[in-house]
Amino acid sequence: MNSVEQQLDKQKSQYREIFLKSAEEIQKRLEQIKPEGFSGELLDRYEPDSVGRQWQKDALTLLNQEISHEVYRKLQEILAYREMFKCSGCATCCRLACSEFSPEELKQKAANGDKFAQQFTSIFIPYERIEDAEKIYPEYIKLLKEKVEEKVYFYHCPKLTEDNRCSDYENRPQICRDFPDNPLAILPDKCGYRAWKDEINPIALMLHSMVEIIDFYKQKLQEVM
Ligand code: SF4
Ligand code: SF4
Repeated sequence: MNSVEQQLDKQKSQYREIFLKSAEEIQKRLEQIKPEGFSGELLDRYEPDSVGRQWQKDALTLLNQEISHEVYRKLQEILAYREMFKCSGCATCCRLACSEFSPEELKQKAANGDKFAQQFTSIFIPYERIEDAEKIYPEYIKLLKEKVEEKVYFYHCPKLTEDNRCSDYENRPQICRDFPDNPLAILPDKCGYRAWKDEINPIALMLHSMVEIIDFYKQKLQEVM
């Protein structure tokens, strides 16, 4: 099993356990705001002015405000902690960027005002042959081929020099400055942020599980309200 598969396998096995814990914790908090003596269930259907409906409204407030803000704050904390680590200059992220969008789709999104697409298309150009992308990070591309059904497009930045330097460092866009901003992203072993990612991984998984559970409750509540 290669290093990318190991990263993913570890995340998957930790996630199951973390998800159950988060679900239990959020359920407990929703139960804590249940009106005293009320015996219904949160996802039952209730009349508009009923006690049950009020509980559902309070639950939405708890999910949208308190719990979502906690997730946001914690995410900011782990991103701030990333500053304790340094890029080791391996240039993998300049040589290989993946997207579910084709170059044409990205250009269209950029033209429609999508900030990420604007920055992405300002630096990255598509690989003409997948073999060239494979040379940069073969384990990762192998994994994408095996596990991702949708088409993935591979890009690289022509501003990178042969000695792995950014030729336009002062003007590099925010997406370069922020990388890696997804704590669950797969990072190469040689990436200077790999230790950060490994350390904060359980918290990042917990936050991810909380977002999934919040979305689940919000959707179910909308269906019954
Ligand atoms: S602009 Fe510079 S830092 Fe950003 S991807 Fe290109 S070479 Fe890398
Ligand atoms: S993959 Fe990590 S270490 Fe390599 S250039 Fe990108 S941020 Fe720096």
